[in-house]
Amino acid sequence: MKKVLLVDFDGTITKIDTVDLMVRKFAKDGWQYYEDLWEKGEMATEECAVEIIKLMEMSEKELLDLLYEVEIDEYFLDFLKVCKEKGYEVVIVSDGYDFNIKAVMDKHNFNVEFYSNKLWFEKREIKVDFPYKSKECDKCGMCKLEVLKEYKKKGYYTIYIGDGYSDLCVAKYADEVFAKGVLEKYCKENGIPCISFKNFDDIMGKLKR
Ligand SMILES: [Zn+2]
Repeated sequence: MKKVLLVDFDGTITKIDTVDLMVRKFAKDGWQYYEDLWEKGEMATEECAVEIIKLMEMSEKELLDLLYEVEIDEYFLDFLKVCKEKGYEVVIVSDGYDFNIKAVMDKHNFNVEFYSNKLWFEKREIKVDFPYKSKECDKCGMCKLEVLKEYKKKGYYTIYIGDGYSDLCVAKYADEVFAKGVLEKYCKENGIPCISFKNFDDIMGKLKR
């Protein structure tokens, strides 16, 4: 059976959440209010992002400089190698931004197919767009469940790897879940079977079995 590993980006592949990092660095006070609502599930990603972007001032260069400092999980590149050897597909699914994902991939020299929201610059103006919004989900900007459903339809065995709020929609539907942080807690509280992990070395160990 074909296998796909759907992997969250911020806080899972990267050691810190790049959206959070960018907001803390470049947004004026007031963003915390929207972030709290989003975490409680009371505000959708798009609405929240649009409000927070209004509070932000940064140039493309300033954002790139910040993103180039972001570290990734020490074992992630080895994990990609193992998946390639075994013929497993790896796809990044993120409710964050393409700009951040591309910058981190460039810096660390890897290239993985991904689905995410979009962020770009027009002069000094920051633009965002949410091309993968799902009609069936009123919370996510890019609902990961939609991507998972596509792979299921094509007959894939699906493995989900994540850590946060944007992983809650998809977790219940994956054939196997690797979880840490908020997602791990959520799975345990909701009776969703999951394998806890700290880093991609733990995951490789389990994949090799
Ligand atoms: Zn969703």
